[in-house]
Amino acid sequence: MGTGYTYQCKNCLRMGSLTFGAGMLWYDYENVKSALHWQFRRQLEEFEKVNGYSSKEYSLNLYTCPKCKTIHSRFWLRATSQDGKIFETIFKCPKCKRKLEEVDEEEFDNKNYACQNCGQFEIEYITESTWD
Ligand SMILES: [Zn+2]
Ligand SMILES: [Zn+2]
Repeated sequence: MGTGYTYQCKNCLRMGSLTFGAGMLWYDYENVKSALHWQFRRQLEEFEKVNGYSSKEYSLNLYTCPKCKTIHSRFWLRATSQDGKIFETIFKCPKCKRKLEEVDEEEFDNKNYACQNCGQFEIEYITESTWD
């Protein structure tokens, strides 16, 4: 199950979308690979070349920047090799270059997060959708 939101900033009117969870789409590993940023895809291929087959966990997660409090959806993946080595995607804020921190979907409240464009805490939801 996944949930998607479209939002708009009341201050600068910039629109955006956020997605949580993992839908049916991700049961196909080819889709998973194409959802990864190309740099992560290359790192993962390299990791598997060195460490052999790995088991994988992945989902669309929400992240926030500890400095500017902007909110981002990112496709997270962790691969664990047979001998316990781990490859995990790590994300940085495009503005501050700080490491993004994961946000628990249960605790998510749009009032606590800032617009990626203007930095104001004026995010308002427009639509919500779910998929399998
Ligand atoms: Zn930031
Ligand atoms: Zn804004």
